[in-house]
Amino acid sequence: MNNRYKTALLFGAPGSGKGTQGRILGAIPGFYHFSCGEVFRRLNPDSELGQIFFEYSSRGELVPDEVTVRMWAESLNAHEVLGDFKPRSDLLILDGIPRTVEQARLMEDHIDVLMVIHLVCDDREEMIRRLRRRALKENRIDDADEKVIRNRWEVYEKETAPILDHYPMQRIREVNSLGSPAQVLSNVLTHLVPVQDRHFSTVEV
Ligand code: AMP
Repeated sequence: MNNRYKTALLFGAPGSGKGTQGRILGAIPGFYHFSCGEVFRRLNPDSELGQIFFEYSSRGELVPDEVTVRMWAESLNAHEVLGDFKPRSDLLILDGIPRTVEQARLMEDHIDVLMVIHLVCDDREEMIRRLRRRALKENRIDDADEKVIRNRWEVYEKETAPILDHYPMQRIREVNSLGSPAQVLSNVLTHLVPVQDRHFSTVEV
């Protein structure tokens, strides 16, 4: 249990900016960013898992829990073996996983969740604008269709939001995700830097 990865979760609805914040954080020494959606998108579309991902994501639905958590564990382990993820000096930043309470349970033996950063955005229209921009830029089928976007939000409310009740309230921080990436980052870091200081004595630069 003691060698569980020290972890912070980036949590929020589709379009709340988890990916943007995760990518910036991942460029800072001492943070390792893992985006579940990105790993899924990099799969060979002809592979069995690639086809499962396409089937679910094109409808705005979640890939089944066991397959997802297995893929996450194997992929993260590969990054650890390769040496780009260094669990002794890196705070793991998880973006887009866990996405259900069952995933949170399945991951419990592997991760020690020190903080949950909940990116909150009440402006649905702004979120739609963000998702549409991303659909064009990254060629994402799941964000190109408004029906699929709305389904993604429904799935978030029904299956993902209950995760907030799974973790102790004292570990959850709400951050307003409206504003420039730098403004949001500044607020996120206010919460994360003390966690990093408390748990890691050295950060490899
Ligand atoms: P994202 O890039 O995080 O918005 O994820 C894009 C799509 O990948 C989602 O709509 C799901 O179909 C799939 N996906 C990503 N992460 C997970 C997860 N933790 N559990 C199940 N499906 C996921």
